[in-house]
Amino acid sequence: MKVQVSNTNVPCWRDITVKSQVPAQLKSLEIMARNISWVWHSEAIDLFRSISPELWKSTNGNPVAVLQLVNYERLEEIAADKAMMRKIEDVYDDFKQYMNVPKRTDVPSVAYFSMEYGLANVLKIYSGGLGVLAGDYLKEASDCNVDMTGVGFLYRYGYFTQTLSMDGQQLANYEPQNFNQLPVEQVMDENGHPMVLEVPYPGRIIYANIWKVNVGRIFLYLLDTDLDQNSEFDRPITYQLYGGDWENRMKQEYMLGIGGIMMLNRLGIKKDIYHCNEGHAALINVQRLVDYVQNEKLTFEQALEVVRASSLYTVHTPVPAGHDSFDESLFGKYMGEFPQKLGISWQDLMDLGRENPGTNEKFSMSVFACNTCQEVNGVSWLHGKVSQQMFQPIWKGYSADELHVSYVTNGVHMPTWAATEWKDFYIKKFGKEVMQNQADKKIWEKIYDVDDEEIWNLRQTMKNKLVNFVKDEFRENWLKNQGDPSRIVSVLERINPNALLIGFARRFATYKRAHLLFTDLDRLSKIVNNQLYPVQFLFSGKAHPADGAGQGLIKQIVEISRRPEFLGKIIFLENYDMKVAKRLISGVDIWLNTPTRPLEASGTSGEKAEMNGVLNFSVLDGWWYEGYKEGAGWALTDKRTFQDQSHQDQLDAATIYSMLENKIVPLYFAKNSKGYSPEWIQYIKNSIAQIAPDFTMKRMLDDYIDRFYNKEAKRSKLLVADNYAKAKEIAAWKQEVASKWDKIEITSVALPENLLYNPHVGEVYPVEVTIDRKDLGNCIGVELVVTPVVDGQMKPYIVQELQVVKTEGSKTVFHLDYSLKNSGVYKYSFRMFPKNPDLPHRQDFAYVRWF
Ligand SMILES: *Cc1c(COP(=O)(O)O)cnc(C)c1O
Repeated sequence: MKVQVSNTNVPCWRDITVKSQVPAQLKSLEIMARNISWVWHSEAIDLFRSISPELWKSTNGNPVAVLQLVNYERLEEIAADKAMMRKIEDVYDDFKQYMNVPKRTDVPSVAYFSMEYGLANVLKIYSGGLGVLAGDYLKEASDCNVDMTGVGFLYRYGYFTQTLSMDGQQLANYEPQNFNQLPVEQVMDENGHPMVLEVPYPGRIIYANIWKVNVGRIFLYLLDTDLDQNSEFDRPITYQLYGGDWENRMKQEYMLGIGGIMMLNRLGIKKDIYHCNEGHAALINVQRLVDYVQNEKLTFEQALEVVRASSLYTVHTPVPAGHDSFDESLFGKYMGEFPQKLGISWQDLMDLGRENPGTNEKFSMSVFACNTCQEVNGVSWLHGKVSQQMFQPIWKGYSADELHVSYVTNGVHMPTWAATEWKDFYIKKFGKEVMQNQADKKIWEKIYDVDDEEIWNLRQTMKNKLVNFVKDEFRENWLKNQGDPSRIVSVLERINPNALLIGFARRFATYKRAHLLFTDLDRLSKIVNNQLYPVQFLFSGKAHPADGAGQGLIKQIVEISRRPEFLGKIIFLENYDMKVAKRLISGVDIWLNTPTRPLEASGTSGEKAEMNGVLNFSVLDGWWYEGYKEGAGWALTDKRTFQDQSHQDQLDAATIYSMLENKIVPLYFAKNSKGYSPEWIQYIKNSIAQIAPDFTMKRMLDDYIDRFYNKEAKRSKLLVADNYAKAKEIAAWKQEVASKWDKIEITSVALPENLLYNPHVGEVYPVEVTIDRKDLGNCIGVELVVTPVVDGQMKPYIVQELQVVKTEGSKTVFHLDYSLKNSGVYKYSFRMFPKNPDLPHRQDFAYVRWF
């Protein structure tokens, strides 16, 4: 046989992942690493860092990765180190004590749905404020022992990492996440295999794995479609947060809503309240309706009563254009089979997502959420008002300020956002109870007893930390990406912890007006180049990859920052995320915010600043409209002077410069012989005593419980009792009213002649209305609606209900003694509406006839 040169085939590689193993004595470390409560327990962070400071840094503070990457000898060394083992035991004891408190049963249980969660920097499933809010909310639910479960996505790529090109162009980098190295756990099925959820999409099943994040005492479940069983077209559903085209967005929202509820069913989780954080998850109510129709044999209308009573929709976007809406054809492609499951027509389903039913409007997720959630709220007082205006077209019979749309002002999770140094300070000065009773102003007032110098020194410590962070964290990257090393070095040298440091960091959406400060560069240059009173600005923020204007703003700021007069005075820090936010927000002196009013629904970063002795200087918009107090920060007025936005911008910019020049900078540098400014400290004390306690996540969670959860849980219990008796009764009643509504006749409206032709203040006028209900029962209300007309504008309605004085057969007579209190020009009209004490509010059944 002929000998060949060689005879070989290719290697047949097989995958095997060797799981790291920690010594048995260190199991507690592993348990704690897999519960992200370390994010807000500094002792645990210190512990993980001490395992290997290098790995802690290179993994971006990820204890799961640290334990996997650290070599086994180091772990054995720790296991043999008595002092270290004692420390581990102490921290673990605290952890167990925290975990062992049973869930409260005095408040309703909640399922919370959100497209993003900002829990820890290493878990890249958030982009900005909405996510951080959701993350903070779960943390507080854990701290307060509320029975809450979160639902979201585990994104393969998450949101992007930002770098800047040489010329200041934003580069978006999507890095795949290695799920095994994250503080998450895969949910397994009965056989110990990864659980696979099967979600029916048109013509196919989409499979999803389920991951669980331990958020202290509660769980966040995350869906993941990056599975081999799915087609290349469907795997990317959970690749990116706010990425992809409209069809991908449709598939995502389908997965979050329909899939989210199916997942909870599969896990056997049922809650009292279903809370939609923003409209993305609104389709949960489609699946919930299907479940009631199919499993409980309710009609669509009955199911709707039950679903509505137990759901809450929180809107975060103040402009209609910011809400997701889908073309009928795209929506139909995915939702086409649902009408049949629900026993309604396609038109009926579409109309639930339309401001004007019966038209060919797109399907709006927020309109659908409004129509299927009993309660709706904005995220600050002002945003509540804006939301009433925005949603008024859904309930045309009522004016904006009559709507049930309410508000809860956003807050922030104090144990996450107050720097460790400040938390220690608060506990030392106020006592431990400050953490439990965060909203108790009495406790915070103790700040006035603290020595000024101590506060100044603490602030100085935090400023130094920030400066060191910038030097440490950015030097390498800047040298690599931004050319001209001598310029980088001089920027780093110029960062000065003794300057007045002003921070501006947030998403670079154009309405946030990051450009405002750069309206007059000569004036700005004088402010930052004052030798005696140095001022420096630190900017940071990402623009959405599809937002060209936002990216243009970043580029503009970067270009300005490179001019000789601004070098080291205006500094842009790349990749704004929770880590950068924590340092920046606690390290500057002033947190600046300049949104176009009223587009900042709430804003939360300024609230984080409050907890770190950092003063806000902001437009009176969002939370600051409620938060601002004189002598505790600065405000740009809420009065709009110009209709034209560029004129308004110029005026606002001039106001900012002059407030900096005349008030803020001199105040900061009015130092006494001990080297600090007592007046500045007074501002800090005022802001800590009078503002900070109102904007904690504790207060926000309490508000949701008091204003919505309790109310809804009580009513839905009533509706479902006795095999849904009340829900069925209400649904039947609504149907009866609806079918007979148009036949009701207004038979007479009697107003006294002198009211019509010569009305006077101080007189009382009898008003009488008679209606013929035909064969409808006595369930009609009538009211007189009067509105003052000032400068041609109709002002808020003054509403007075007429009383039933007589019923004769099918006729009802209503009466009101109407007294005129103020002179002026008015318009008036009557309004008829269905009345039922079992309804939560008028918009629950918004039939209205004006006459
Ligand atoms: C708090 C926070 C936000 C939200 O800031 P706003 O002031 O609401 O814009 C955005 N991004 C990160 C990383 C944050 O920590």
